[in-house]
Amino acid sequence: MSLEISINRETCMGSGNCSYWAAAAFDLDDEGLAVVVDAEGEPEERIMLAAQGCPTQSITVTRDGQPLT
Ligand code: SF4
Repeated sequence: MSLEISINRETCMGSGNCSYWAAAAFDLDDEGLAVVVDAEGEPEERIMLAAQGCPTQSITVTRDGQPLT
């Protein structure tokens, strides 16, 4: 089952925590805000660490429409 990751760019502060924890899944774009580059690029544990480590709780992870965060 595939994970779906969404980022609230209104609240993202560009801390980079997510790309630190899961570098293949998240990156910062030209605006300095987080984007998802590959939702399947990291193990689920690291995606969850990234989501839980977001200081502004801007990352939502769902699987089959069920929220994991
Ligand atoms: S950890 Fe949260 S606030 Fe920091 S860049 Fe990622 S989404 Fe944005």
